[in-house]
Amino acid sequence: MAFEGLTTRLQNVFGKLRGKGKLSEDDVNEAMREVRLALLEADVNFKVVKDFIAKVKEKAVGVEVQKSFTPGMVVVDIVHKELIELMGGSQAKLAKSNKPPTVVLMAGLQGAGKTTLTGKLAKLLQSQNHKPLMVAGDIYRPAAIKQLEVLGGQIGVPVFTLGDKVSPVEIAKQGVQHAKDQGLDYVLVDTAGRLQIDEALMEEIKQIHAAVKPDEVLLVVDAMTGQEAVNVAKSFHEQLELTGVVLTKLDGDTRGGAALSVKAVTGCPIKFASTGEKIDQLEAFHPDRMASRILG
Ligand code: GDP
Repeated sequence: MAFEGLTTRLQNVFGKLRGKGKLSEDDVNEAMREVRLALLEADVNFKVVKDFIAKVKEKAVGVEVQKSFTPGMVVVDIVHKELIELMGGSQAKLAKSNKPPTVVLMAGLQGAGKTTLTGKLAKLLQSQNHKPLMVAGDIYRPAAIKQLEVLGGQIGVPVFTLGDKVSPVEIAKQGVQHAKDQGLDYVLVDTAGRLQIDEALMEEIKQIHAAVKPDEVLLVVDAMTGQEAVNVAKSFHEQLELTGVVLTKLDGDTRGGAALSVKAVTGCPIKFASTGEKIDQLEAFHPDRMASRILG
């Protein structure tokens, strides 16, 4: 289960806090020291942890002298609210162009879960009465086009492909035109990922971006990779203006670092969370629900 270690540690800290009738400044400092360690151990970016603790402390000042009967609960509540803020506050929704089709570009490293997400998002949009088109723009991984076609067949969503001999820029352009011609309202462009961020990959995706001017650029990152996922997000965002991040593999025993750092480090909201290999295992990302889940 994701966040298990973090949840257990925070529950321990909060258990102690809740039990106290009165709180001294030392109690609060001790609790914050433990929260800090728990977050660092969960692979949250150290600068993010530092700012987070400073904010919580600032708000917690005075709680120990308040006339609250349950000062410990007040501090727990402050941490809860700050966790929600850390992950973006409110839910960030998928873009919707007022001049359809809405074009969504998928970016990310190989194996992050882009192709799978393309299928999941198509299914989700279809269930909301949209008419999506999936565009097979990953021409380098031989199985990617087939994978998308199989997914499309399963969920009854059309797939636009020109095989693997035409440039992805051209495929994306023609895909968008095809959606217009067919009256489809969302175009999901799957793109190639490499094992490392390399210049050729960035150049190609920038060209696709320039050609189709997407309404949404989603970076798909594997939450299991923790801070590495955040670094990937940072370098993609510097080169290509991202509009959202999708965390995948949240069903694994990921520690929480990516979920808790990516918004603060990049400024980009997390829009979806993928929680398994099955086509319906996709959730809109709700910072409040995620914070409650982390706190257990
Ligand atoms: P791409 O190279 O970015 O297109 O990655 P794929 O979509 O092909 O996914 C790579 C692998 O990760 C596949 O085996 C997927 O089934 C798996 N995968 C994708 N998303 C998830 C997820 O949320 N949870 C788990 N457990 N596996 C996932």
